[in-house]
Formats: sequence, C-alpha cells, structure tokens
Amino acid sequence: MQEPIPTVQLSSGISVPALGLGTWRMGETRSRAQTEIDALRQGLDLGMTLVDTAEMYGDGGAESLVGLAMEDRRDDVFLVSKVYPGNASFEKTIRACEASLRRLKTDRLDLYLLHWRGEYPLEETVSAFEHLKREGKIGAWGVSNFDTDDMEELFAVPDGQNCAANQVLYNLARRGIEHDLLPWCQEKGVAVMAYSPIDQGHVLSNAGLIDIAKAYQATPAQVALAFVMERDGVIAIPKSSNLKRLAENRGSCELDITDEDWDALDELFPPPAAKMPLEMR
Ligand code: NDP
Repeated sequence: MQEPIPTVQLSSGISVPALGLGTWRMGETRSRAQTEIDALRQGLDLGMTLVDTAEMYGDGGAESLVGLAMEDRRDDVFLVSKVYPGNASFEKTIRACEASLRRLKTDRLDLYLLHWRGEYPLEETVSAFEHLKREGKIGAWGVSNFDTDDMEELFAVPDGQNCAANQVLYNLARRGIEHDLLPWCQEKGVAVMAYSPIDQGHVLSNAGLIDIAKAYQATPAQVALAFVMERDGVIAIPKSSNLKRLAENRGSCELDITDEDWDALDELFPPPAAKMPLEMR
C-alpha cells in the first residue's frame, strides 16, 4: 500500500496535495505532445493532482496540453496558472485569464498567480484577481518570485492579505528562503510552492545525497522531494515527462528520514546563515 500524499491547507480552507506536477518545457514540441499528455495523466493517476502551468510555458502550449490531459477529469485537478507581469494591468489580467481558460478548456482556475513582479502596481493586479474571484473564474490567487519585502508590500495593499500562495525557487541546494521568507509565509498562512524542487536535476549527482538515498533504498530525487515536503505549508511541483520518473517522484512520500539524516543533509547543504536575496530561475 502506498503512503498517501501529504496535504497542505490553503488559507481558503481547501487542502491540496503537497506533491504536484510542473509543466515548464512541456507543450513546446508537437512530436512530444502525446508523451507529455500521457505523463500528466499518469501523474494524476498517481494522485499528484495539483498541476502547475503558466501562459508563458510554450507560449500557451503547456496550457493547451494540460487542457487535453485533464479534459475528462477536470474535477480531479487543482489547476494553477500564471499571468505574465506584462499582462498584469486590471484589463489585461482579465483578458489573460480568459485566454488561459480557453487554452485549458475549462471555466475556472483554482489558483492564479502573478508570475513575477513587474511594472503594474500591485493594487491593480490584486483588484483584477479579486474581480476574477467574484466572477468565479478563479478560486484563489497568489504570487510567484516574491521576496519578503515584496510580500510585506503586497499585504499592505487592499485585499493583499488574500494571497494564498507564493511560488519560489526552493530545493536542497537553494535554501535561501529558510532565513526569513519561508517563516514569514508560514506565519501568515501563505502556502509556499517550491519550484525546481530537484534543482532541475543538478543536485542529484551529489555523492553525499546519493549515499543517504541508498540507505533508504531510495533515489536522490526522492530524498530531495521529501526534504521540500518536510517543511510545513510547502508544496513541491517537480516536472517530469517520463513515466518511470513520475512513479519515482511519487515514491518520495514513502520516505521516513531520521533526525540524524536530516542533520547530515544540513551538513551537505547548509541552511542560510544570513538573509540572501531571493533566487530565481
Ligand atoms: P525540476 O526541479 O522539477 O526538474 C525538472 C527536470 O528534472 C526535468 O528535466 C526532468 O526531466 C528531470 N526529472 C524529473 N524527475 C526526475 C527524477 N526523479 N530523476 C531525474 N530527473 C528527473 O525543475 P523545474 O524547473 O521544471 O521546476 C518544476 C516546475 O516548477 C516547472 O515545471 C514549473 O511548473 C514550475 N516553475 C516555476 C517557475 C516560476 O518562476 N514560478 C520557474 C521554474 C519552474 P524529465 O521530464 O525527462 O523527467
């Protein structure tokens, strides 16, 4: 019997799986489309029902692919997409959301994020998000690539405190958020979505990590994902178009890592000693 995927409760009260599916680099090449659709459907079958996409990915291609993958099972999915900062004025956010909905072949997003901070005032984007929420086109909204000072500013604008999530770079090798952003979000009830949770594969060749994984008959990717999900309120969204690796990633929920091994991971990948500016991909 597989262990269930842990869940994270959003400020709206909805619980979502702490292990979802990323889609960056999907929907870019027609010849890979069926493989990618099969991968997304396999991920859903495995219970990784939070799907993260963006209008940016494949210039809408990733959203179209997700639309095909979840066509007959929309209600099983917690669907997340993102608006380009350049589209984040009041009017353009609404148009961008409607275009995303068309590509995704659905009438609502569960969570809509501002992809990163741009030139439009936060008040304006937040007001568009709140409008979309009232219209039933999105269930909740959040941000991405916001550091602590950005979050403070956001919380100071009208309705800014309704932000449900902040999606940021977080993995064993990029632990900067642990200094202040992660505790800030945990205190305010803002879920943290960890993007690049296996560092796009770069972290997997670390010899110490390989040794720790072996002790659990696990893989380095599984330990890397377990590390991210161990934190309260953190959701990991690894991307894979490979059926075997999807099953492997799902297996990260089986790991029960000892305190000694968490300490060993801290030695290998030290937590931040001071504030670091938020890193981005
Ligand atoms: P990930 O850390 O998820 O790594 C993805 C890469 O690792 C792919 O090349 C994948 O290849 C490979 N991979 C996946 N699983 C395994 C495994 N078990 N063993 C070995 N290799 C594996 O990086 P991403 O940057 O894709 O981040 C995940 C998601 O986060 C994105 O897809 C996107 O949805 C989101 N994101 C958001 C950003 C933002 O600014 N908000 C920025 C970057 C990402 P393969 O497919 O062949 O398995």
